[in-house]
Amino acid sequence: MTDFKLITDAQWRERLNDEEYRVLRQAGTEAPHIGEYTNTTTEGVYSCKACNTELFRSSEKFQSHCGWPSFFSPLAGDKIIERQDLSHGMVRTEVLCATCESHLGHVFSGEGYDTPTNLRYCINSICLSLEEKPIETATDDN
Ligand SMILES: [Zn+2]
Repeated sequence: MTDFKLITDAQWRERLNDEEYRVLRQAGTEAPHIGEYTNTTTEGVYSCKACNTELFRSSEKFQSHCGWPSFFSPLAGDKIIERQDLSHGMVRTEVLCATCESHLGHVFSGEGYDTPTNLRYCINSICLSLEEKPIETATDDN
């Protein structure tokens, strides 16, 4: 199995296109509202574009109207890394793929969205690839 943490910068440039490289490997942000999955409601699993690890599910995706795909929880906590990001004069929490340490987006809390966690994982579409498949969830009420 590939150890994605050992892939060199030059190899990432070969594996990804320019825009994927900019966002995933240089912590870029795609423009709002243009992303492939911004409003997608297709049932399925979203994997990391860089390493193919499953990261998020459609069952935790919600309409935040922020312009990027939003999830209230990752598929599992150990799939991602969260770390403080002080860039651009803001204090934010960056979200990275735990497997390949590529940048995915940011997570915001306490915004008042009607979700179980009050968290918004604001993820760039370009960092994800969606595989359509049925999701089994243990739901309480619906
Ligand atoms: Zn990854």
